Amino acid sequence: MSADGLFLGTDRGDAAYRAAMEQATDAVLCAVAAREEPYSGASPDALAEYLDDPVVPEEGRGLEATLDEVAERVLAHSVDPSNPRCGAHLQCPPMVPGLAAEVLLSATNQSLDSFDQAPAATLLEERVVGALCDLFGLPAGADGVFTSGGTQSNFQALLLARDQYCARQFDRDVQAEGLPPEADSLRLLCSAEAHFTTNQSAHHLGLGEDAVVTVPADGDRRMDPGALEATLAALRKRGAVPFALVGTAGTTDFGSIDPLGALADAAAEHGLWFHVDAAYGGALAVSDEYGDLLAGIERADSVAVDFHKLFYQPISCGALLVRDGDEFRWMARNAAYLNPEAHDDRGVPNLVSKSVQTTRRFDALKPYVAFRALGRSGMAALVERTLELADEAASLLESADDFELLGEPTLNAVVFRYRPCEGMTDEAASRLNADVRRELLADGRAVVARTEVDDATCLKLTLLNPTATLKDVGAILEAVRECGSAVADPGEVIA
Ligand SMILES: *Cc1c(COP(=O)(O)O)cnc(C)c1O
Repeated sequence: MSADGLFLGTDRGDAAYRAAMEQATDAVLCAVAAREEPYSGASPDALAEYLDDPVVPEEGRGLEATLDEVAERVLAHSVDPSNPRCGAHLQCPPMVPGLAAEVLLSATNQSLDSFDQAPAATLLEERVVGALCDLFGLPAGADGVFTSGGTQSNFQALLLARDQYCARQFDRDVQAEGLPPEADSLRLLCSAEAHFTTNQSAHHLGLGEDAVVTVPADGDRRMDPGALEATLAALRKRGAVPFALVGTAGTTDFGSIDPLGALADAAAEHGLWFHVDAAYGGALAVSDEYGDLLAGIERADSVAVDFHKLFYQPISCGALLVRDGDEFRWMARNAAYLNPEAHDDRGVPNLVSKSVQTTRRFDALKPYVAFRALGRSGMAALVERTLELADEAASLLESADDFELLGEPTLNAVVFRYRPCEGMTDEAASRLNADVRRELLADGRAVVARTEVDDATCLKLTLLNPTATLKDVGAILEAVRECGSAVADPGEVIA
């Protein structure tokens, strides 16, 4: 291969691009989409064998042969999130508008770290961020930035919260001077059901996971505001210094949404930064029917929202929104080679100063194309359909003698246990469900998740696919039953 067949901008390169994209499209349609099962069932050992060839051969094999090989060895053994019987995690079926946008943004390779690398992309990201701030009811002056997802959004939000608090309370410039001597007493609060990235952020922020205080949740797995008050009072008494409160809009297992209004009240009263982790549930904001579940989010100091979950965009795509855009100053830094002075002179945006990344993808194009193509109502219809399906699935589980439903779904995650006979002990049921999950993955007919609830091993469906039907859910449950009878130890089932 000579270089001119490898790069756009030459006749041969442009033709090679068209041919490769056609081949890639065919590979997706044939090796993945046309497949009956969501997974081939290949074991890690089998995969290691298929993927045994040298990664860096001395001589190349050419693109066409390589793509064929990838289709056969990699795509054929990839889980297919677009299959209606794939419903394990918050791994969405990516919608076609987002996939098309992904082609555009990767081929043009705009980098959002400076205006001169991404002029239109920079302005468009700002437009999309503005629309998102409006969608969540944040006031004028709000701002935001696209991120790799909820992990980065949560981290960055808590970084801003920490640095703002240290400046205000301890007159400390954390960016320059590091953590203040009082750092040991800093605390941040979240519910016991919050995503693990709150703990992870505390670690990465130099506060340590012990700085995270979990507030008990109520029976519906929402933070209990009474318990929050009690926790805050106890912390103050001990001389601890709470600086941030994390509310979750859509917990990973149950989709529960903390009472955001009550949390906003508590945050205001106690001078806490109020961050809402809406990585999962943020998509409700487009729905007239379910949008009210997010009431109170408009009072947040910051909001994390993911587009690669309930907004059906290809990975990765998330955003962090901040109530007062000036708060981004806590992380601003100027690299001379990225021409930051242009910002002051001619109003050229300098997005690198708002991000923890430098080179950064133009992921904002994906929700932009999706929103423009479908409109708010089109997007809402998709979200609503999956929430309805989860309700139907919950009813189906409830009416089945051999299944146990663990709580009504708030969003589209449904947690349940296979329990083929009444007298089965909790331990035996946990073992059986763990075995069923393993067996199902090896079988490939359905992909479900496993989770632990109150020390019991459960199964979970995250029904993100708007084209899936109750019949598909029935087929998944049937596969669970079949795998269950294959793995069940008859002695245990009766015990
Ligand atoms: C998915 C998720 C995260 C992590 O986000 P990534 O996009 O995986 O980085 C954080 N919080 C919640 C509630 C989530 O659902």
